Amino acid sequence: MSAAAAPDRVFKSVGRPISEEAQTSVLVRCSCGSVEMKVYGAPITSAVCYCDTCQIGSRELEALPNARPVQDEDGGTAYVMHRSDRVAYSKGVELLSPLKIDETATRRVFASCCNSAMVMRFDDARHWVALYRARFESEAPALEFRICTKFKSATAAIPNDVPRSAMYPPGLIVKLIKAKIAMILSAPLAASVDR
Ligand SMILES: [Zn+2]
Ligand SMILES: [Zn+2]
Repeated sequence: MSAAAAPDRVFKSVGRPISEEAQTSVLVRCSCGSVEMKVYGAPITSAVCYCDTCQIGSRELEALPNARPVQDEDGGTAYVMHRSDRVAYSKGVELLSPLKIDETATRRVFASCCNSAMVMRFDDARHWVALYRARFESEAPALEFRICTKFKSATAAIPNDVPRSAMYPPGLIVKLIKAKIAMILSAPLAASVDR
């Protein structure tokens, strides 16, 4: 049996069918290729965040030796939000390092091999994770929101390409709730980021 035909072991059988859509995966890599993540199915959404914590986190990540930019010129950081059960590290998990910003319930995970920002996560068991959109390269899904713009610097000019919101727009919250419901109703997948 060829490797390509082998069943994907990331999925745990729990007696319910897994949709074809959920089995379609995209490979997301650090810039040197030592760390790989597999992302299954369509994203919840893709958004640029301007909050203080994301600005600090991205600046700190970009300050690591040889790190590539993760922040746009206007100070925003672009993410792709995915269900936490549809993201799995498939290579180089031992190379991951957390970046913790004081007094926030978030952590940013980067690949220590080349200091590529990979994931932004919450410390609680939230049902979604935010992957750094830069990692998707040409396969990055289209942006849908610019959020938390009240924290942007006074001089930053934010593009008018997608809806902008001072904080969290209802459209984004609805998408997150729908993802939670879909997660409860659909076959749970074993894939998960645990760091
Ligand atoms: Zn790397
Ligand atoms: Zn943010």
